[in-house]
Formats: sequence, C-alpha cells, structure tokens
Amino acid sequence: MTESLNEFSFIESIRQRSAKSAALEIGIGDDTAGWRITEDSLLLTTVDMLMEGVHFTIPPASAFQVGYKVMGVNLSDIAAMAGRPQTAVVSIATPKKYGSKFLQELQQGMQQQAENFGTIIIGGDTNIWEGPLVVSVTLMGVASEKGVVKRSGAQTGDWICCTGHLGGSLLGKHLDVTPRINEALLLHQKYNLHAMIDISDGLVGDLFHILEESHKGAELIAENIPISKAASSNDDGQTSLEHAMSDREDFELLFTLSAEQGELLVSKQPLDVLVSHIGYVTEELDYKLQIGKKRHVQLKKQGWEHSFSSPCGISKHDNY
Ligand code: ADP
Ligand code: MG
Repeated sequence: MTESLNEFSFIESIRQRSAKSAALEIGIGDDTAGWRITEDSLLLTTVDMLMEGVHFTIPPASAFQVGYKVMGVNLSDIAAMAGRPQTAVVSIATPKKYGSKFLQELQQGMQQQAENFGTIIIGGDTNIWEGPLVVSVTLMGVASEKGVVKRSGAQTGDWICCTGHLGGSLLGKHLDVTPRINEALLLHQKYNLHAMIDISDGLVGDLFHILEESHKGAELIAENIPISKAASSNDDGQTSLEHAMSDREDFELLFTLSAEQGELLVSKQPLDVLVSHIGYVTEELDYKLQIGKKRHVQLKKQGWEHSFSSPCGISKHDNY
C-alpha cells in the first residue's frame, strides 16, 4: 500500500524468485493472488496491514474507524479483481494502553465493514505489546463466473476509466472507505473490462501498474479527471489536479475497456458513482497528460512532472 521505490523493487525481486505451481493462476504482482481450487473455483487471496502513525493516527481515527478501514482496503483489492469476497482472518498487535473496550470497537469496525459485503471473519490472532497499533487482514474470495480482471490486459486504443472522484482522501474519506465491490461486479458482468486495479497508491502510480503489466503507454486527459471536493480544499501549494492524480487511498476503480464499450458505459452511467473517461491506452511506451488541445506534460511513475515552464506548466490557478 505504501509507495516507496524500495517497496516496489523488493516486490519485483521476490516475484522473480517466487515458486511456481500449476494451481497458481495469478501470482505476485496483481491485487490478489489466484489459486485454482477446482475447475469452477478460483480462490482469491490478499493481505494488507495498517500501522498507527503511517496509515492512521488515534485520534482523530477511532478504534471503529481503524477496523472499518483495514477491512475496507482489503475488500478493495478483491474489488480490483472483480471478485466476490467471502472470508477474512485478522491479526492485531495492540498497545496495552488502549484497553479492551478499544479492542472491542476495533473488532466491531472490521465486522461491520465485512458484513456490508457478505464477508465473515473466520479467525485471527491478537497480541498485546508496547508498540503502536498494527492491524492486518487477510481476505479471501472467489472469482465470479466470468473470471477475474487482471492488471495485465490493457489493449492499445482502450479507454482508461475510473469510478468516483479523486484526491484528498487522507483529509477524511480514507477512514470511511466504501470498497467498490458491487460496482466492480456490475461492470464486469455488463462490460468486457480488459484491465483493472484499485487506486491505493494514487491515480498515476496505479495506472503505471496497469501499463507495466500490460506493456502499454497512456495519455490522460486533464480536464476529464474527476476531482473530489477534498482535493480542491487542500491549500498546501499543490493544485487540485495534482492531488487527484497523486493522492493515496482513494480506493476507487481504475480500469480499461474498448472505446466502443467505454462509450456505452460512460453514456449510460450504470453505477451509483460517476464513471469518467480519463484517457487512452497507447501502443507507444510514452506517458502523457494532455492539458487542453495544445499542452501536455510527461507522466512519471512516482507522480508526474511539468515538462514546460510557465505559462505552459500547471499552476494552481489554471482552470481545467
Ligand atoms: P496493493 O497496493 O494492491 O495492496 P501491493 O503494492 O501491496 O498491492 O503489492 C503488490 C504485489 O506484491 C501483490 O501481489 C502482493 O501480494 C505482493 N507482495 C507484497 N509484499 C509481498 C511479500 N513480502 N511477499 C510476497 N508478495 C508480496
Ligand atoms: Mg490494490
């Protein structure tokens, strides 16, 4: 979930040395693993850990909210595969000072979020120590009848789309995560999605995961990127577009599908949340953000950089 270069190069190194098995249909490198149980059943497994001081602080987060969040971020990874969540096991390392009422509320938060999506907690481990609160959830689910949507399926000419509004999540939304399980299942059932990921590391960072796995490039359209109110209200010197493109923990879906299917989807708007067409997949391994008709900036894996100086660069007062 965190975005340091070291994390990704570590994951890449273990990925190359990881054991292979005929049953392992989806290994390290996607939002969940996929393990073939029977001809009809692909088990999806994911784990995400939240750490006090990194992913939340107490206060302002309550014990319930931490529980709700940690279950939500794991469900979001099942959503990214268009899977159906089923069961969870949880691990808690809690500091003594928080006491048993706190622990009860933490568990209730996890339970509530799990129940929202028909998931049951079937086990776990609880330890008390002097360190900060650390909570880890392992989530298991199954692929739908139509199979999963991986990161690797993007095709040249695809539309790049996303759900919801992006940016500013850390100002509050991250503690009230609604994983897009139902949206992903509906999209997968009605449209032929080629690739999908959930936005946890920021729009651009997660788009790069799709592009790398699919060996494609992309062109994003600045004025189409749906910017959340929170992204605009953050007065820290970054533009609201910059926030929408790089802020972590939106937990929205980012996906690609053919232009024909994309047009149908965006005109129909079949979800309770907005679906936006934010760009195109390209054959050329180039990564651009198009701003208006004449300007563009180069996208970089860890965020994005201005390729022109003012007046062509993006300023806080540019109107998108
Ligand atoms: P996400 O942001 O979707 O949770 P991550 O960036 O955390 O995904 O992880 C990317 C991939 O690397 C996933 O397939 C995950 O299972 C795998 N991964 C991360 N850490 C490890 C590890 N220590 N050992 C094996 N696989 C790992
Ligand atoms: Mg993910």
